[in-house]
Amino acid sequence: MADKILIVEDEAHITRTLRLYLEQAGYQVVIIADGAQAMPAFRHEKPDLVILDLHLPHVDGWEICRQIRREGDTPIIMLTARSEESDKLIGLELGADDYVTKPFSPREVTARVRVVLRRSHGQVQPPPILRADTLILDLEAHTAAKADQSLDLTPTEFDILVAFMRHPGQAFTRLQLVEASQGVAYEGYERVIDQHIKNLRAKLGDDARAPRFIQTVFGVGYRFSAEFRHDS
Ligand code: CA
Repeated sequence: MADKILIVEDEAHITRTLRLYLEQAGYQVVIIADGAQAMPAFRHEKPDLVILDLHLPHVDGWEICRQIRREGDTPIIMLTARSEESDKLIGLELGADDYVTKPFSPREVTARVRVVLRRSHGQVQPPPILRADTLILDLEAHTAAKADQSLDLTPTEFDILVAFMRHPGQAFTRLQLVEASQGVAYEGYERVIDQHIKNLRAKLGDDARAPRFIQTVFGVGYRFSAEFRHDS
């Protein structure tokens, strides 16, 4: 039977997108918009995992997290605002299993759901790691490091780098990179990619005129150097 995900979030545009992606990934989805209804729904639906927003009408996410933990160890993924570093720490202290910062890509959330559920089902696998020379991405921890120095990447930059590093040598159009990072191919967002690439190159220490990692493919877009192909 499909795993059931309970989403507690009052912002309809977020729940709409999450429902779409999670259902596509084969999950059953139940949405609750009011904090006061979260615990009754939790007890009634018995979800396999809860995606919990902090800012909710009537009862906030902290309180719901506490109550769920009092009743068992159902995995919880918190939705937090990027700026609120303390929110993540408190959430993890209260027993949340993971958190995702807004704005997030629905693909990222779906990937986290899969990881957390796999862990809770006891099918622990080694965390997926992508490497290119001294550059290392940990997809489970969602961290990036180069030569043991941690890189402070935005979620968009991280997702773009994941797409690149999974397919070294492959040319990506800007639209493909928008899709890889946003989960949707928004036309008109392509030029934003140039700025993300510029930022990524700066963080990777890549010289735009002679980049080691992210190369410009004239008339197409960008590619991650074929030097890092897995088969070479
Ligand atoms: Ca909210």
